Amino acid sequence: MPLYEFRCHDGTVFEATFTMAEVPDQQACPGCGQPARRRISPPRLSIAGTAAYSLTDATKSSAHAPPVVSSTGPVGRAQRYTQNPLHQKLPRP
Ligand SMILES: [Zn+2]
Repeated sequence: MPLYEFRCHDGTVFEATFTMAEVPDQQACPGCGQPARRRISPPRLSIAGTAAYSLTDATKSSAHAPPVVSSTGPVGRAQRYTQNPLHQKLPRP
């Protein structure tokens, strides 16, 4: 159920949960009992700041901004793809 925020005339702010179909425009203040009006408040995105959010953010940034390559590897020598000595005996193109 969504969490709604209410504010009383004396400045008391409190929250209450209602279904979206049953949310009232006013709710009795728990401090003074006067009717408090419902406020419009930003949604609380619970995922922001978590590890899952950081991973999603990093994945999105790597898609359009890949890391900069500072070197292309050793020059003048073929790059070895395997360390197995038996592969050195295979025919070369
Ligand atoms: Zn009040």
